[in-house]
Amino acid sequence: MSYDTQPAASHFIDGAYVEDTDGTPFEVIYPATGETIATLHAATPAIIDRALTAAKRAQKSWAAMTGTERGRVLRRAADMMRERNHDLSVLETWDTGKPYQETSVVDATSGADALEYFGGMAATLTGEHIQLGENWVYTRREPLGVCVGIGAWNYPTQIACWKGAPALACGNAMIFKPSETTPLCALKVAEILHEAGLPAGLYNVVQGMGDVGSALVTDPRVDKVSLTGSVPTGRKVYAAAAEGIKHVTMELGGKSPLILFEDADIENAVGGAILGNFYSSGQVCSNGTRVFVHRDIKEIFLERLSERLGNAVIGDPMDPETSFGPMVSERQMNIVLGYIEKGKAEGARLVTGGRRLDREGYYLEPTVFADVTDDMVIAREEIFGPVMAVLDFEDEAEVMARANDTEFGLAAGVFTRDLARGHRVAAGFEAGTCYINTYNDAPVEAPFGGSKNSGVGRENSKAAIEHYSQLKSVFVRMDDVEAPF
Ligand code: NDP
Repeated sequence: MSYDTQPAASHFIDGAYVEDTDGTPFEVIYPATGETIATLHAATPAIIDRALTAAKRAQKSWAAMTGTERGRVLRRAADMMRERNHDLSVLETWDTGKPYQETSVVDATSGADALEYFGGMAATLTGEHIQLGENWVYTRREPLGVCVGIGAWNYPTQIACWKGAPALACGNAMIFKPSETTPLCALKVAEILHEAGLPAGLYNVVQGMGDVGSALVTDPRVDKVSLTGSVPTGRKVYAAAAEGIKHVTMELGGKSPLILFEDADIENAVGGAILGNFYSSGQVCSNGTRVFVHRDIKEIFLERLSERLGNAVIGDPMDPETSFGPMVSERQMNIVLGYIEKGKAEGARLVTGGRRLDREGYYLEPTVFADVTDDMVIAREEIFGPVMAVLDFEDEAEVMARANDTEFGLAAGVFTRDLARGHRVAAGFEAGTCYINTYNDAPVEAPFGGSKNSGVGRENSKAAIEHYSQLKSVFVRMDDVEAPF
């Protein structure tokens, strides 16, 4: 059995699929062909209200259950996601255009990891006891209430789980709004969670564009907002959340540096640069798109990179042999083509790629520019496509200053055989997620997130618990109260 691309209805609210055809219709496009695979309706105010009412109602009794009971539901959902990995991966490929070779090992599986991890952690969440002489204080770790998750289009299943799993583990309810470009898989996450025993109303999915996200963020019934998106959207959502003094997690964009020293293992460095620029056709927030290559290894690096890019299998994303798929949308493809033109106009050297492929769908060639300088637009702005900028350097202090000279701070990486240097460079990076001799790993056990304009808060790991719960201090006096009068 594989899933229909047209879901039973646009939204999933209070444990069931819900439709409201008064909402603005929008089409879901398969990026590999441009064909319409589903038509959905954006949430109307009535749908948004229904989701908020259901979440508010359901949250208190969910929070009253034991962590073990809550965790059991999440762990069951994780098992079900793994059992259905093939069908979920095919649907994710329809939704995003990412090759099945990727979706079958990354998307539903990393979503399942989050459900399993936070499911296991739910039973361990506690407050603490603080003795003050004969008197004492204890803290209760309490949920925030109703959480809103807003997702980007590059990892729809993963984002739906990375936000939902810790929220639910801590006893919150979640309303998730996927990007309208990739709305299908979050509905399956909701379906699976409820099949696994999640009480109705605790994980709701509403569809729509920015205005639906904005209506959710500004509603007084919402206690927390977690956004994965661009920095400009982050600014708007953060400001709207601040108006209501709501908790926030912001996972935003980046223009991350990847530094390859002269002593790096060349094949590993090339491999890291490929993973950090061309996986998911370059549509990864943490990509190391400013590749600083030491002058001594620049030519060999570019040579091996070009050779290995020639091995990319570009084609039908459903074919398990395909390793490079289309851009998520025509719009994103055109944005990236615009940056490629800027790179050429600014005088960067086009080493390979640079064109749209002559076939149906939104395919771009993997593209590498060399001789890029720090002031070029392609070295400063997030492109979010398969475009690598190679910059030269000679000296560690110089390259560190240049690497950190950016508004972003999501990720950063270094390849070197000198481990003392590796740790020194990692310590010097102004970024939330750093890599030594690897790139773009994101296991659920480790905190993930950005500094500077790339974000606030952390997803995954124990750190996420702090962002989905709050402490209440309860003071207890054992002796008499002393009052001045
Ligand atoms: P956008 O910022 O365009 O959109 C993100 C989400 O926010 C979408 O669901 C969008 O709705 C919604 N939205 C837009 N405006 C508002 C608003 N005013 N109020 C509430 N919600 C709103 O990002 P993209 O979808 O284009 O994704 C790409 C970006 O995401 C890149 O910058 C990338 O770096 C970043 N990203 C960050 C990650 C991280 O973990 N740090 C991971 C993945 C991506 P809609 O689009 O449906 O209109």
